[in-house]
Amino acid sequence: MKGKFLLAIDQGTSSSRTVIYGLDARAVASDQQEFPQIYPQPGWVEHDPEAIWNSVTSVTRGAMEKAGAAASDIAAIGITNQRETTLIWDRETGECVYNAIVWQDRRTAAHCQALKNDGLEATVTSKTGLRLDPYFSGTKIAWILDNVDGVRARAEAGKLAFGTIDSFLLWRLTGGRVHATDATNASRTLLFNIHTQEWDDELLAMFSVPRELLPDVRDCADDYGLAVNDSIGGEVPISGIAGDQQAALIGQAGFEPGMTKSTYGTGCFVVANTGDRALQSENQLLTTVAMRIRGEVTYGLEGSVFVAGSAIQWLRDELRIIDSAPESEEIARRTGVVEEVYVVPAFAGLGAPYWDPDARGAIFGLTRGSGRDDIVTATLQSVAYQTCDLVSAMSEDGIKPSVIRVDGGMVANNWFLQFLADVLDVPVERPENVESTVLGAAYLAGAQAGVVNSIADIETLWQRDTLFEPAMKGVQRERLLEGWNDAVCRVRLDN
Ligand code: ADP
Repeated sequence: MKGKFLLAIDQGTSSSRTVIYGLDARAVASDQQEFPQIYPQPGWVEHDPEAIWNSVTSVTRGAMEKAGAAASDIAAIGITNQRETTLIWDRETGECVYNAIVWQDRRTAAHCQALKNDGLEATVTSKTGLRLDPYFSGTKIAWILDNVDGVRARAEAGKLAFGTIDSFLLWRLTGGRVHATDATNASRTLLFNIHTQEWDDELLAMFSVPRELLPDVRDCADDYGLAVNDSIGGEVPISGIAGDQQAALIGQAGFEPGMTKSTYGTGCFVVANTGDRALQSENQLLTTVAMRIRGEVTYGLEGSVFVAGSAIQWLRDELRIIDSAPESEEIARRTGVVEEVYVVPAFAGLGAPYWDPDARGAIFGLTRGSGRDDIVTATLQSVAYQTCDLVSAMSEDGIKPSVIRVDGGMVANNWFLQFLADVLDVPVERPENVESTVLGAAYLAGAQAGVVNSIADIETLWQRDTLFEPAMKGVQRERLLEGWNDAVCRVRLDN
């Protein structure tokens, strides 16, 4: 008899979470744990792989206990994860040779620049849909191979394994039996040709990565072997894997071309489904694998903004002008739209569509009367303006969403979502279940295990909580966007 629950692991940048769902997609129990961020030098970000692993086993145990579930009650396990973050471990001992180099880490900027200077970016983009940026795994792998003693030789001898976090968890959960990843995670490494769906020899040579390191690439819903780890307490099939942003698109039922979701956590990630077309952006967006189901690839166009919810944390933790994130809503509500003050939260440079690693944050338009409330409100507005930049870039590439589905922690803020709809001039839909990412992972696993009909069932489960209709006059919108563009120009050194 098959189990009555699905278990989804969401291994994120700041925390790990396990959610247990009934087969009707109702969340039954969950557990979550934060783990430490390691900043060895400015611009470097690492995670201790053992801290990640311990947090995952602990929340998995915790969620199973809360649900009163034994291994035999669980039909399948799905995994979703922070993407691009890079690990290399020993195939025999399972021990990592270095900490995980996190997606935010900029240590390989010079390597990327050198490859650009050699004129290699066009080849990289045409094969991977990505850019030569430290954000992705390729140069992070090379950094470990070149900077940790003896690692390159061990890699060439086939003794080591590379993986993004999904592969690492899969390896550990299966007791070292399976070294695999899914096509969405592979598509973020700079080594995977998204058109042929294979690791690419030319790219491997460009980044000096031995093929022996690489995992097998499978569909998002596929057989990934049996979890045998003690934390599960029995054998349970692992049958779904997708990177977090792709899993969110699936959880938002973004199955049709043109469907677009925007996730507001630490950063903001907009992904539009472009169907079987790997649309290459003329506007600095990324082309990526949105999902691969039964061998069929659905592509996506993606824009990433590095600072969204974390700008609200900055107001709370650094400026200390709010006590909690929800307070930003009360303040904005009583302040109303701020027209003069612009906050540009380019704390880690600017992501899409600017890709300017050297830009830094700034506040413009202050007058003697400007106060805390203006800055708080303008910070919320900045997240909407940044989304607007991404959606405009998408529109110029021919993808004009008729509605945008939102999720992530920041969408609790109604004022923000109304302002977002207003400046985008596109309706914004918030679902009842804003936990799209874990739901997507659970469904991939459930479909493969045959306990839910199909992944497309998510469509019938998806329920709207609130629709935010654009209500702002065109002239005001244009004025605000002009002010924003002006502010962005001023933080960019090359302008
Ligand atoms: P992540 O998965 O990246 O850790 P979450 O999806 O949990 O992030 O979202 C948390 C983020 O949302 C935090 O950065 C927080 O500042 C922001 N946030 C939470 N509630 C609100 C709110 N009511 N208004 C504005 N921002 C919020």
